[in-house]
Amino acid sequence: MKKGLLIVLSGPSGVGKGTVRKLVFEDESLNLEYSISMTTRLPRNQEENGKDYFFVTKEEFEEKIKDNELLEYARFVGNYYGTPRAYVEKLRNEGKNVFLEIEVEGAKQVLSKFKDDEGVVSIFLLPPSIEELEKRIRGRRSEPEEIIQERLGKAKSEMSLATNYEYSVLNDNVVDASERIKKIIKNRIK
Ligand code: 5GP
Repeated sequence: MKKGLLIVLSGPSGVGKGTVRKLVFEDESLNLEYSISMTTRLPRNQEENGKDYFFVTKEEFEEKIKDNELLEYARFVGNYYGTPRAYVEKLRNEGKNVFLEIEVEGAKQVLSKFKDDEGVVSIFLLPPSIEELEKRIRGRRSEPEEIIQERLGKAKSEMSLATNYEYSVLNDNVVDASERIKKIIKNRIK
């Protein structure tokens, strides 16, 4: 069986990665599977353990790092985020196209681990503007001002790394952005 693709989607906090990803996943012909990350941050309102993230303690996360169980990991605004390696490999070996939604440092680690012909597809999602991004981050209303400022500062520095990715996709509206991403994946499945 042909090994599945490893699709890496990055983009600044608040750009709408989650919403776009959900639309992309509606296309079953893409044979996608979402890689559930591990994080030390606390769950937001509707988030569920084992569905949105595996929520763990700092000690548990550091144990995973030590045991080399993460494909990549990074610190982001005071917390750890990482991708459990075994699950990704298992799914890819079953022919599934595995979808990672991760920030830029982690993506860099993934891109450096695989050669060009090893089925990795990297996509950066861009916001229409910084103003629009700020509006979206504030719209969540779930975090203190200090964290919002930190996320905004981070967003600006992340945007400059869009050129590390094979594809940049503008999220001017979520339907068009998801259609662009579906097309990219379809072309790479062939
Ligand atoms: P949030 O706290 O908004 O859920 O996530 C913060 C950032 O961490 C987002 O850019 C998100 O894509 C990224 N992220 C989520 N999971 C992972 C992961 O497993 N590894 C890395 N490197 N980043 C992640």
